[in-house]
Amino acid sequence: MAEFPTSARVVIIGGGAVGASCLYHLAKAGWTDCVLLEKNELTAGSTWHAAGNVPTFSSSWSIMNMQRYSAELYRGLGAEVDYPMNYHVTGSVRLGHTAERMDEFRRVVGMGRYQGMDLELLAPDEIKARYPFLETHDLAGALYDPNDGDIDPAQLTQALAKGARNMGARIERFCPVLAVRREADEWVIVTEKGEIRCEYVVNAAGYYAREVGRMFGREVPMMVMSHQYMLFDTVPEIAAHSAATGGKLPLLRDVDSSYYLRQEKNGFNLGPYEGNCRAHWVDKDDPFPADFSFQLFPDDLERLEWHIEDAMARVPLLGTAPLTKVINGPIPYTPDGNPLIGPMPGVPKAFEACVFTFGICQAGGAGKVLAEWVTEGATEWDMWSCDPRRFTGFEGEEYCIAKGMEVYGHEYGMHFPHYAWPAGRGQKLSSVHDRVAGLGAQFGAYNGWERANWYARAGDDVTPEGVQTWRREGAWFSAVKAECEAVRDAAGILDLPGFSRFRVSGRGVIDWLSAQITGRVPKVGRLGLAYFADEKGRIVTEMSVARVAEDEVMLITAATAQAHDREWLLASLPHGLILRDETDDWSCQILTGPNSRAVLAGVCEADLTLPWLTWQRAQIAGADVVLMRVSFAGELGWEIHSRREDTPGVWDAVMASGSAHGLRPFGMFALNSLRIEKGYRAWKGDLSTDYTVLQGGLERFVDWGHEFRGKAALAAEKQRGVTKQFTTLVIEAGAYDPPYMSTIWHGDTVVGEVTSGYFGHRIGACIGLGMLRADLNVAGTVLEVEIFGTRHRAVVQDDAPLWDPSNARIRA
Ligand SMILES: Cc1cc2nc3c(=O)[nH]c(=O)nc-3n(C[C@H](O)[C@H](O)[C@H](O)COP(=O)(O)OP(=O)(O)OC[C@H]3O[C@@H](n4cnc5c(N)ncnc54)[C@H](O)[C@@H]3O)c2cc1C
Repeated sequence: MAEFPTSARVVIIGGGAVGASCLYHLAKAGWTDCVLLEKNELTAGSTWHAAGNVPTFSSSWSIMNMQRYSAELYRGLGAEVDYPMNYHVTGSVRLGHTAERMDEFRRVVGMGRYQGMDLELLAPDEIKARYPFLETHDLAGALYDPNDGDIDPAQLTQALAKGARNMGARIERFCPVLAVRREADEWVIVTEKGEIRCEYVVNAAGYYAREVGRMFGREVPMMVMSHQYMLFDTVPEIAAHSAATGGKLPLLRDVDSSYYLRQEKNGFNLGPYEGNCRAHWVDKDDPFPADFSFQLFPDDLERLEWHIEDAMARVPLLGTAPLTKVINGPIPYTPDGNPLIGPMPGVPKAFEACVFTFGICQAGGAGKVLAEWVTEGATEWDMWSCDPRRFTGFEGEEYCIAKGMEVYGHEYGMHFPHYAWPAGRGQKLSSVHDRVAGLGAQFGAYNGWERANWYARAGDDVTPEGVQTWRREGAWFSAVKAECEAVRDAAGILDLPGFSRFRVSGRGVIDWLSAQITGRVPKVGRLGLAYFADEKGRIVTEMSVARVAEDEVMLITAATAQAHDREWLLASLPHGLILRDETDDWSCQILTGPNSRAVLAGVCEADLTLPWLTWQRAQIAGADVVLMRVSFAGELGWEIHSRREDTPGVWDAVMASGSAHGLRPFGMFALNSLRIEKGYRAWKGDLSTDYTVLQGGLERFVDWGHEFRGKAALAAEKQRGVTKQFTTLVIEAGAYDPPYMSTIWHGDTVVGEVTSGYFGHRIGACIGLGMLRADLNVAGTVLEVEIFGTRHRAVVQDDAPLWDPSNARIRA
């Protein structure tokens, strides 16, 4: 037998489906000098007892992409690595009880088609042709996905492991990782069998990820739920059906009743996601076990009763089937239910591929993504939805438990664009939170910060039901319109806690920053928008840069970008420069609208004639503040930055001054409407690594006369000519605005996608920002946008903001 390895390029900790896929994909990328360490036997974690469902369905573009890739990989894997696998592509029928649910399906059909998958909507009277044993009288319809199916998770893991071994990678079983340490530029992985030195390490430890993370000083944001499925024995009718058709029934998901029901041999597998769910290992009476290999929790059918009865009413044959076995196993959850795949925050050359809730159907895609992170430092697809840095460290245990339980209980819930999920709220409050709440604010959480989404007026419906719709108009709509009109005609104020901000200083800071951004660093006293590209010229992030002094800049960026942008900056920061994260020290109000100058003049002595894109220090209510003359809303305006302890006094003074000038508060929904009319891009919607800076229509932020990261790729792209380009569409959109990744059609061809869509109240039209085949990106071109299954006329606009194209109002 080969000796225990003492060195490797990459060590993967954990041998479930995900760890094995990471090893397989690293080897496939030519990195065969990799070792996987498994504390027990392969599959000993969640993998061994998983139901093995392999859906492609997701309402998230990137998750769907990852699952689609997995399904394609699994089809060929057995033959490729010569390992027989039970993979049944049975298709699936997903039932819809309501009109809203059918809208969700319509959207997913559009996304699926764009990814090359033929999903199909079924009318109620068509469902039985796909699934004969079903009661359909109360259904609104269904979604048929021909790519869905089930796989044996153990065989999948073994096949991936075999494929990896065939290429030269190694697996050490019964080899728990006990500790890690960093020596020079290497990781030393300590096991009972010896130590391994490696360049990179991957935490793929499933529900043990937090324990493994702590070896690196990293607190993984996660918790563990118990999930049960029940196996039912043979039903003669099912056996007869299979014998007659030669196949299995499609996988059934009754998402509005929250369960899946699969044909298992000639019986059933029923798996509910119950609302009255159970977290495990969350208190001292139920401590996390040192080892849970190949173990289960005791059955707990009582809490599934409602679902069992509902399933038996839906598929009466289920009621005739003898229950033979219950599987109750641990599934790890992050606070948003998506896994962690990517760089381990704050830890060099360490990565995460863990906390998978659907790790069987996602393992294939996850391995690809992880291998790209390790070998190339970037991924082909933008994978922000799974990036560990979307969590920023505030997510304590209680928060993780509350959110994990919420996600589990709504595993099949619909994610309406105006609905803010209630669990784990109030993590970070603005110092004027109570004042804002008193004005009727309806809050949403942004990196844990509570911000007003809109302000309800007397009589407005503030129940969850009032906003649980895909439609443009709901409880918030007329209030948001009034907020936008106040900004247009008088003045509005938006309390915006949580902007991420980094002060960077030291000799050489300007040269360093200049090499990181596509444009020029502004002069002292001025502000600018800066775009950071990767080596391929793709859009990594956008920040506002305020030049504080010759050798000092303040970089301000989105709340959710805090960990991501900090790491991006630190990765290239030379010794001698100092970066301070001042996110928690400051707060900000956006004061904007034609009367904003008069409002400010009433509270400070600042020179309010200084032009757009300048900043100055001033005093309001005795407190030092920074006034930045910018407006994401596209009107005359300032951002007022104050120390958090000073913010209440500043807020009160500005509000008092504003009362004579029609000042009213506005929220994030209004800001979205206002910014989209100006064509201002949103990060991780319009701005992502799926697009280059040139595709994003950002060439005016490129200064070709200096050297910067990504320049060579962008110069080459410029010479070739872009094939896809940022566009602005005005859409005759009916009752809905287009969600992310709604497809743009030219005749019968999809020619692009909408990356953000919203209603512009100042121009009174639905606007789509998106990416379009370059030859069609000519003002006046008539296209169509598919929104929830229906195509709507859309007209390409000039490459200029729809509202105030000359920026006269901002410069006023
Ligand atoms: C009842 C049930 C049904 C499910 N059904 C489905 C389904 O139908 N479809 C689907 O996609 N998902 C399903 N899941 C979820 C799925 O099981 C998990 O998402 C998936 O198995 C996670 O795989 P993994 O490789 O990330 O983790 P795991 O399989 O848990 O593997 C982690 C491995 O790390 C090892 N490890 C931990 N610590 C160390 C250490 N210190 N040193 C070395 N090794 C270590 C563990 O022993 C373990 O083998 C289900 C889960 C449950 C509970």
